[in-house]
Amino acid sequence: MIIQLKDINKTYFNGAPLHVLKGIDLSIEPGEMVSIMGASGSGKSTLLNILGILDTYDTGVYTLAGQLIQGLSESRAAELRNKLIGFIFQSFNLISFKNAIENVALPLYYQGVKRKKRNAIALDHLKMVGLADWAEHMPNELSGGQKQRIAIARALIAKPQIILADEPTGALDSVTTVEVMELLRKVNKEGMTMIIVTHEQSVADATDKIIRLKDGIIERIERVEKAPRYV
Ligand code: ADP
Ligand code: MG
Repeated sequence: MIIQLKDINKTYFNGAPLHVLKGIDLSIEPGEMVSIMGASGSGKSTLLNILGILDTYDTGVYTLAGQLIQGLSESRAAELRNKLIGFIFQSFNLISFKNAIENVALPLYYQGVKRKKRNAIALDHLKMVGLADWAEHMPNELSGGQKQRIAIARALIAKPQIILADEPTGALDSVTTVEVMELLRKVNKEGMTMIIVTHEQSVADATDKIIRLKDGIIERIERVEKAPRYV
């Protein structure tokens, strides 16, 4: 088990208390690709942020890659995050004044890897996502699909154990959505554990398992019958 949540609860206290996650139990095996679906406000992002050690929980037990995630200092949380997790966001979160290769290389910059080495590794990752020819281009010269492939390369460059994606296709058209999901599927086939929050059934159908969240409770977990495209 790479992820294990036991009876996780989370309440926000801005104004009236809002009990957002109500006793979440969840286990994810290494190499699994799962999606989280549910209505807006059902707690999907909160759950993903807790999994990504971007937010804390109130009660329960969270174990990630054998480590108890509880009461960590901000610096220890950041260390575990950088080592274990790659993030992909709906809005790509590329740095607008850095070109494609610099964006991909950024996690290595923070690790203190020298420029020449990190750019060589970043170029390999750009090749992997089919964008080697775009290395010198700035984000505003790239399409949405290209930006998300850059973000995927950036998420992978530090060799995380798990990828967390919050609505990764939310800003993409349907053709580009298929391309991005095929890329994520390929990355998963190479062994990466992946958790994807989505509103789109077609995106969820590209994963192995759908976790349905309703009002902070896991309503049910469905195994996906694979569409031929993604097998
Ligand atoms: P989803 O991603 O499923 O749309 P969220 O996890 O973002 O849902 O939010 C769940 C509920 O928690 C929503 O009602 C939202 O308004 C509330 N919420 C989210 N983040 C915060 C926060 N930082 N402070 C207070 N309330 C929050
Ligand atoms: Mg959300």
